[in-house]
Parts: sequence; C-alpha cells; structure tokens
Amino acid sequence: MMDFRNPREEIEGLFRTEDLEGLLMKAGELHGHFCPYLALGVRAGCIALKALGVERTTGMEKVVAIVETNNCFSDGVQMVTGCTFGNNALIYRDLGKTAVTVAKRDGTAVRVALKAEYADAFGSRYPEAHALFEKIVVNREEATRAEHEKLMRLWAESSFEQLELPKEEVFNVEHTKIEVPPFAPMFASVRCSVCGENVMETRARVKDGKPICMECAAAEHYLLDGAGISIEKGASS
Ligand SMILES: [Zn+2]
Ligand SMILES: [Zn+2]
Repeated sequence: MMDFRNPREEIEGLFRTEDLEGLLMKAGELHGHFCPYLALGVRAGCIALKALGVERTTGMEKVVAIVETNNCFSDGVQMVTGCTFGNNALIYRDLGKTAVTVAKRDGTAVRVALKAEYADAFGSRYPEAHALFEKIVVNREEATRAEHEKLMRLWAESSFEQLELPKEEVFNVEHTKIEVPPFAPMFASVRCSVCGENVMETRARVKDGKPICMECAAAEHYLLDGAGISIEKGASS
C-alpha cells in the first residue's frame, strides 16, 4: 500500500543502496527517454546529496537544488534530489552550464559541474550516436524510423555507461557555502476583472481600479522555454 508519509521511499531506497541504474530508470519515467545528460544529472544529484549527508529531501525546500541549465541533466537532478519545479526546491539560474549546486538550509552546499574536457570528448566517444544526434535533433533533418530507433538505442546504452565512469573523470565537485533563498512565500489570489480567472496577487495589475491579470493586460512577462529565460511581450503591445 502507498505510504502517504513518504511517496519517495522507493527512490530513496535506490539512493541508499547506490543503485544508479534503478535511479536512471526512474528518471526515464519523468524524462521520456534515456540520454547521457539525464544520466549525468542522476549522478550529479547523487554525488551532491551524498556529500551533504542528506537522504531525504521531502520536497519542502529543506534542501534546494540550484541548476544552471534546463537541458536533460536537470531532470536527472529533479528525480534524484526531489527538488522540483513545482515544489519550489528547484532554483533555476539561467547560466547555460551543466552544473548543479545542492544546498541545505544552513547554506552548506556542494556544486557538481560537468568537466569541459569530458563534455568536449563526447562526440568522439560516441561517433555514431553523435552523427545521428546532429542529424535528427540538432538539424531536425528527415530521418528514417530505423535511424530514430538506432539513436534511441545508442543514446540509452550510452546513458547507462555514464553511470560506470569514475566520477573524477566526469565532474568537478566543490564544497561551498551559499546564501539559500527564503522559503517560497504564499501569496493570496485576486480575481481578474476581465477573464474571471484567479491570479497570484503579485502578478496582478490594476486597471480602472480593478485587478487584471497580465494576460488580459497584455503585460510583458518572463518566459522559460528551451532557449532559457526571456521576456515575452504582451499580446497586443
Ligand atoms: Zn534527454
Ligand atoms: Zn485575465
């Protein structure tokens, strides 16, 4: 039966027994495919938690993970650390680096960053997968079903191989001290006077003395997508 006190018991068990393969399988459930950077995120998350002596993160910002990229790596980090976009324990710095800092509330932290030399040698280590990746994912060229399947298979194989390599070859690990942001504040909602949807107070604007949501106000707002954080212009501005 489901244990309501700890839905992450299975994942924490895999972490305690250092079952990286099991954790990567779990990360695949979230991520949708197996790829090397997902596996590297799994490893980085494990290295950081272990170095901090943390086994349970609870998803209540007791521990936060600060990622510097929104590539596949981040999903491995989310699965292992339990710090997610939705529970506010995942903090995103739009720096474009494959790195994560995991921190306890007292600021004790470990930063795990992918070594540049390791990343640069990736293509030559997996030439066939690299060529298919360039063709299908980077250039979005037409590919046969067989090529697609081959990429997924080679990618999956290489992802599990990422779990085997000595960590010194792959990552720089640094113990550090950081300023942990305060717990996520809980904001009241107000009703948009135009669309009638509720909106977080801090995101509402005022028009003719009444609250209005940013969408209805066609206000500029931040957008996080595959390109990172940018400002999205309002609809009619
Ligand atoms: Zn991926
Ligand atoms: Zn509205």
